[in-house]
Amino acid sequence: MGQDRLELIDWLHNPLAKSKSKLHVQRRKPFDGWIAGFATNERPVEYGNMREDYEPGMNAGLGMANARVSSSRSTKDATHSLFKVACSSPFAIAPERAAELKMQVMNTEDWTLNPSETEANFWVVVPDKSIYLSYAGLASLWCLSRVAFTTIYMASQISRDPDAKGVDQVDLGQVWTERHLDKYVAYARRLVTSDEAWPEVLQVPDATAASDSGEGRLNNLFLGALSWIMLHEIGHAHYQHSKWVGADQRVRQEYEADAFATSWILEKAGNGIDREYRVLAIIVALAWLFLHEQVKGGGKDHPAAILRFREAVAAFELGPRSPAAENGVYLLKALFDPISEDMPAGMKSHEAFDWMATRMEELFGQ
Ligand SMILES: [Zn+2]
Repeated sequence: MGQDRLELIDWLHNPLAKSKSKLHVQRRKPFDGWIAGFATNERPVEYGNMREDYEPGMNAGLGMANARVSSSRSTKDATHSLFKVACSSPFAIAPERAAELKMQVMNTEDWTLNPSETEANFWVVVPDKSIYLSYAGLASLWCLSRVAFTTIYMASQISRDPDAKGVDQVDLGQVWTERHLDKYVAYARRLVTSDEAWPEVLQVPDATAASDSGEGRLNNLFLGALSWIMLHEIGHAHYQHSKWVGADQRVRQEYEADAFATSWILEKAGNGIDREYRVLAIIVALAWLFLHEQVKGGGKDHPAAILRFREAVAAFELGPRSPAAENGVYLLKALFDPISEDMPAGMKSHEAFDWMATRMEELFGQ
């Protein structure tokens, strides 16, 4: 099992971001029409205008009483290079379908990708075919991806250690504090409520990192998770979902958008390492949904995170030795269930994942 896990971590060096197809980047576009969000349909509050001369820290006076201004780096400063790479990620996550996405889904119409300076969220304006990614959302998801990558990397280091043979529990407690993972999670959570400056103690994303470096692999995991979110938004626009329907119908539209993203990514992924990587990326995106729900609570316009998780997991189709399942367990356990010690030892990957999924039902089910 350790071998598979190393293989998956190695695989992450594949350059995900190299696709010729891109969404057009739009710097400014007024809100118009219906907004379908990833985690909530509430229109996020814009703090001031999107301006090229935006001054980091100026938001302190614009309704962001809780913002920390000790750091001079905004989420925009930290993530604008990731935003540029994000343009191609829906094409790059399932490269075998890039042409299909371009010709049959997005057609010749003018889709745009727009940055936003709201709290962490992602949404689409359906009539405009405009997808919005907030810098806070990119920052929040990247921090969570960093936690995910560090967790699986350290777990594999531990399992590679010859002294660890026969150890069936991986204790990440020390890594969690040494690598500031607790601080990344805390920042990722705060961004769900409002944008705030990048804490100085935390590493800043490096979008130009070599793809076989740790930072590059982390970026690939982040871009994979982001592409599931973006394909969810593309799904809304592709199906021309509407706000002017009943609550039940709106919830159904969310399931449809999720299913569009999941099947787009997995349908032609085969059963090898490609699928493992993609599943792990989707698990990271789902973990972000759980985190969002913990902070903001559930809304009436989206299914509960646990129901969205259940639907996506049903499409994973993982084998008994799946490294994505095993790594997914480490991440979900460390993030949402670090205290409980009743996890049985000696389970295969898929058994451990089933156990964790049941645990998630207990933690997040109504
Ligand atoms: Zn949605």
